[in-house]
Amino acid sequence: MLVVMDRNATEEQIQAVVAAIERQGYTARPITGGNRVSIGIVNNPGPVDPALFIGLAGVKDAIAITKPYKLVSRESKPADTVVEVGGVRIGGRQPVLIAGPCAIESDQQALAIARHVSRYGASIFRGGAFKPRTSPYSFQGLGEKGLEILARVRQETGMPVVTEAMDCETFGLVEQYADMVQIGARNMQNFSLLKRAGQSGLPVLLKRGISATVEEWLMAAEYIMESGNSRVVLCERGVRTFVRHSRNTLDLSAVAVIRRESHLPVIVDPSHAAGRREQVLPLARAAAAAGCHGLMVEVHHRPEEAFSDGAQSLYPEQFARLSRETGMLFRLLYSPDKDTEP
Ligand code: PEP
Ligand code: MN
Repeated sequence: MLVVMDRNATEEQIQAVVAAIERQGYTARPITGGNRVSIGIVNNPGPVDPALFIGLAGVKDAIAITKPYKLVSRESKPADTVVEVGGVRIGGRQPVLIAGPCAIESDQQALAIARHVSRYGASIFRGGAFKPRTSPYSFQGLGEKGLEILARVRQETGMPVVTEAMDCETFGLVEQYADMVQIGARNMQNFSLLKRAGQSGLPVLLKRGISATVEEWLMAAEYIMESGNSRVVLCERGVRTFVRHSRNTLDLSAVAVIRRESHLPVIVDPSHAAGRREQVLPLARAAAAAGCHGLMVEVHHRPEEAFSDGAQSLYPEQFARLSRETGMLFRLLYSPDKDTEP
């Protein structure tokens, strides 16, 4: 932490900050020169709370240097983590495609879509049984019936399945059927749910909150790891901005930041970022080029009849093209003769 003093801070104010730092058991190192004094804090065993100092007289700012996350950080584990989901590896040199409808609607719907996406290169099937909907009047998902359908899809196609757990009450039920449990954007900071996910034996797909910073997102992953589960995959799905031309704004720089800051795999969901089918392919290409470990895409065989998110769901043939084109980009970036990874 660096405490930056006002230009006209008095010697007494500087000494008061030094004393406040020392009261915490840390060492203060005033840095003079230029037209203001800054005070470095050293010998702190972990992150220091800026709130301890920003209210003191004469203080302009307090800048954190030590990151608050530990278990998720690359400093604590330099090598990339690979998370296995029902035999499929996420985070290695083989990028993964997760695809399926927004919501499980029926046996026929789920199986029809699963067969399409499997044929076109998906290795994990997605589909919501418990749906977090903005309106209480919208389709809320089939619940346990949807989970049973997911289990049948796995049996019929061999694909592992990922589905969302919305609360602690139904987490156990989701665990009985799923190969991977999704924590949705709206629940990224539901700390009791994160702790419950930390006690799970299943891998967790943690989506980025609708307006979460990368640091908040990593701290959410830290909750899961700190509770005992190190099988976490991060998913960038767009954040809310001022734009109206897409549902959210896909933040691909987050992929680069995560890959630098964390050893955890990071995938991208262009569907919920776009909100419109025609933007999904360009965003998927860009995500592949940005160096993510895979993509999660909504696909529907009859999107005009979908119970949710039909506008952003790809037709199966569009998914085939996405798979082909992102596959080329992934191969370029991850080719085995390259000694560096994206
Ligand atoms: C989903 O993937 O089904 C979903 C609801 O996405 P998000 O939580 O990112 O909105
Ligand atoms: Mn959806």
